[in-house]
Amino acid sequence: MQIKLTAYLFIVAWVLMVLFLLSALTGYLFYKNEIGTTIIEVVTLSMLVGLLLICISYFAQSLMVRCPTCNNRIFSEKEKMHPGAKKSILGFSGFIAEEVIKNDQFTCAHCGEHFYLNRE
Ligand SMILES: [Zn+2]
Repeated sequence: MQIKLTAYLFIVAWVLMVLFLLSALTGYLFYKNEIGTTIIEVVTLSMLVGLLLICISYFAQSLMVRCPTCNNRIFSEKEKMHPGAKKSILGFSGFIAEEVIKNDQFTCAHCGEHFYLNRE
């Protein structure tokens, strides 16, 4: 299901972003200490490329995933939000991604409608 894919892309993008920042920081510290940096450079660069690819696919996906009730984009926070919409540390989209991955369900942050994903 598309929403599940988008939820995973969202989480992977965040994980990669953290890993990228860590490896960039490690690379910087090693560079300052004049220890060989080639491996860290390669790791950091490949993570940056991976991060960009994941972000692009996430944005492409999130443009297509719409709420069946209000037709707003589920992973967008630009539209009007429901007063009862829940947020995690990764924002409204983060909360929805968590719900989708953990419980196969989500609440639209725009209209407040609750949905169950089909379990297979
Ligand atoms: Zn909705």
